[in-house]
Amino acid sequence: MKQQYRSYQESCDFLFDAVQKYPDLISVQSIGQSHEKRDILLATISLNVAFADLKPALLYTGTIHAREWIGNELGIEFIEYLLKNYKNNPNILETLTYNTLYLVPCLNPDGFEYSREHFSFWRKNRRDNGDGTFGVDLNRNFSVGYRKSKNTNSNVYSGPKPFSEPETRAIKEFVDTHANITIALDYHSQGNVFFPAHKFNHEMELEGTDLNTLCANMNYHIHKVTSRRYGINRGKPPTKLISGSGREYYYSKGILAVVVEVGTRNIPDYMQNMAESINENIPALLYALSEARNYSKHAPQRVENFHLVSTEANCCKLGWEYPEDSEIYFEIYKNKNNKMACNDSSLVGITSGREFVDENLSSGTMYFYYIRAVDRLSRTKSPIAPKVKFKTPLEENEFHRTIFPNKTNVGYVAQKSPEANRGHFGVNSLKVGVSEGRGISYGVMQFNLDSIPKDATIIDAKVSLYPLNRVSAKIEKYGEWALSIIDPDSISDIRDFDQVHHAKHIKTVGKSIPSEQLTQGIWSHWDFNEYEREQLQQQLSREKVIFKLQGPTKLPKGRDSQIMVFDLGYGHQGGGLHYRPSIDIKYTIPSEEMAIEISTAMTISDYEIIEDKLACGFDGEDEKVYAFISFDLSPLPDVDKTVITDAWIEIYNTSTVKKEVDIRYNVEFVDLEEFTYQDIKERERIEYIGYEVSSAELGTKKRHNFIFDHYSRLALEEMHKNNKEAKFIIRPTSVHTREHLINWASEGKRAAKLMVRYINRRREPLPKPKNLTTKIENGLVKISWDRLKESDLVGYYVVRNRWHIPQNPFDGVKLYAGPDNYTYDSYGSTKIAKYYAVFSYDEVPNYSQGATIEYKPK
Ligand SMILES: [Zn+2]
Repeated sequence: MKQQYRSYQESCDFLFDAVQKYPDLISVQSIGQSHEKRDILLATISLNVAFADLKPALLYTGTIHAREWIGNELGIEFIEYLLKNYKNNPNILETLTYNTLYLVPCLNPDGFEYSREHFSFWRKNRRDNGDGTFGVDLNRNFSVGYRKSKNTNSNVYSGPKPFSEPETRAIKEFVDTHANITIALDYHSQGNVFFPAHKFNHEMELEGTDLNTLCANMNYHIHKVTSRRYGINRGKPPTKLISGSGREYYYSKGILAVVVEVGTRNIPDYMQNMAESINENIPALLYALSEARNYSKHAPQRVENFHLVSTEANCCKLGWEYPEDSEIYFEIYKNKNNKMACNDSSLVGITSGREFVDENLSSGTMYFYYIRAVDRLSRTKSPIAPKVKFKTPLEENEFHRTIFPNKTNVGYVAQKSPEANRGHFGVNSLKVGVSEGRGISYGVMQFNLDSIPKDATIIDAKVSLYPLNRVSAKIEKYGEWALSIIDPDSISDIRDFDQVHHAKHIKTVGKSIPSEQLTQGIWSHWDFNEYEREQLQQQLSREKVIFKLQGPTKLPKGRDSQIMVFDLGYGHQGGGLHYRPSIDIKYTIPSEEMAIEISTAMTISDYEIIEDKLACGFDGEDEKVYAFISFDLSPLPDVDKTVITDAWIEIYNTSTVKKEVDIRYNVEFVDLEEFTYQDIKERERIEYIGYEVSSAELGTKKRHNFIFDHYSRLALEEMHKNNKEAKFIIRPTSVHTREHLINWASEGKRAAKLMVRYINRRREPLPKPKNLTTKIENGLVKISWDRLKESDLVGYYVVRNRWHIPQNPFDGVKLYAGPDNYTYDSYGSTKIAKYYAVFSYDEVPNYSQGATIEYKPK
């Protein structure tokens, strides 16, 4: 097996050979020597390689950790791919025309050879520490965040001082003298995850969107090859951030720096797994190389103040600032999940304006928008502005709940630990799958549904889980994770393995997720289809629903574990309350129907007004005769808590219609104070109600319903709110007019009626919180505000954003949601300026305007 990997010498030979064959394309240099006097080789690849240093560049480094062989192998294979294909692949040709690749296949040649020849799990270099131990972890020996350690025997021993090692000094000197490097990718194994650089705090960074998007776009190419998605994670609190690594050193030089952890083992089976890892990473690397020039000083500048201007249930408006420049246009990308690709697959707009309207949104849905400026001629793109994230408001008849399980109702049950299972609940992360030690292991979640009316209709539902992010979580490529609703009658104790194992499944939900798509650090969702929503709806009467999450149940020979770990939010491994499992349910409730009797009926013609009669048509002089009706809306319930879902006017024709007459009648919603003929003629029309009916239709059908559209329903609510009557006229039109009048019933059972269907639901949000203040308390920023007195208040939603005032409760990092009138920014830095916003919400929930405050460090 090992022979299939290149040795360091074979890699060097390959490079020197390539220089012989492609002298215009590749050059090779030694950037330094290791402890054991091996040359550390760096290859430069670019079209007209003599000018390579003048172009923006991507720096590739591999195998800084000795046992992580893929770095060396992938580096060499990538070069081979470029050399073989550049003539026939215009994409490679263009990429190498504008960009340069600097590639160090192996930054730790001594350790690599030691690992190949003697001790395969060796990690460090081969420094003689002088105390009988060997090696420094080179990826802890860089200066940024360097932490001194005394334990020379440790696998992460950081060396006597920063850059004490010849290997780290070599790469430092190269990077320090090559300001054209804009992107650095450091290849490691294992985990199938990207770790973008950080600045030793848990705040958003200006380049944060660039880093995540670079990874997401690489993921897009990886996915095309193997349908795998890597995790993308900058180190979620409370995770400790890594110190003294190359990545943070490069980042400190203004380079976009990312560690790529490849594969599921340090030294995988070459034929099967290593080949797959290499194949999927080559197109991703080519893409990353093409991005180098978009981060050079010649690229257009980043868009400023990209923000949400406004949003409604189905549309949004975005705005931004940019200097006047006729050479620039903007590309806008939209995604429904975080950390997804921004490329042609998500491009929704190109404009040279300074705003963008998207009218194709769904209500109550989260969206992520991104923007780049593009140079018209060179097609160079700018870095990406910090993303805008928001949730569209609900439709007027919709409600939404995000429900988390109680601590005691979420956990896992393992086959081989029947006594311990009880203790997992609310404490240990959800460990789901199979392992030698645990046997089969299921996740169990019970959600209370008592906040949703039993007769609700579920419009949308999804369950979300956060796969924990850990390099050591080695998920191989087999098995699926499936979620099912289980019959509550078939189980009395959700913490008992046998009961969970034998529980009756009502329905699996959404798509089961195959191992390669269970991505660490990116939420997993199971979306319900219509039939699954019906099953969930049936659980409403029981006020709870129980889910079982099941992974693979058998281990292939030689494997000891295939367990995915999902965050519980609770316990010492948990990432905090925002990472709890949840179920999102969007629903509506049955409406009530009310018939409102006529309050005024009139017939109005040029020469007279006849009360209590509804006639309409043309008189002897071909002048129009109008019918007028009005309805008193006061029987409708409290306007603030009523949403009209349907309305129509029912009218009944009592006359016989002459066949040869061609008159059409329509109903208009009007705003009238006086009823003179002149006033009617000059009336202010609000809206037509429904479609017109013709004389012919009146001949065949007596009863007609004129149905309100959305706008008319709003107008009706407006009349109700202002204590006004709803007024309508029936108006005739005809191309060839002639004397003819239609009578509509204005009394008795057939009298015209206004029919209204409505639900009880707050329509308007509550006022925004007042007197927002910040202060430092216990080393944290504390945000406080005045309590609102409104009885419909459910809570406050607090969000922070470093770049713009959050226009929406979801536009930034969520800090808190609940009834308290203060919160702490637990993981934020007190030294960084930022904006906070607090929104109040009711039980729908409608979110208020935000109360905002700018925080400035002292
Ligand atoms: Zn590593």
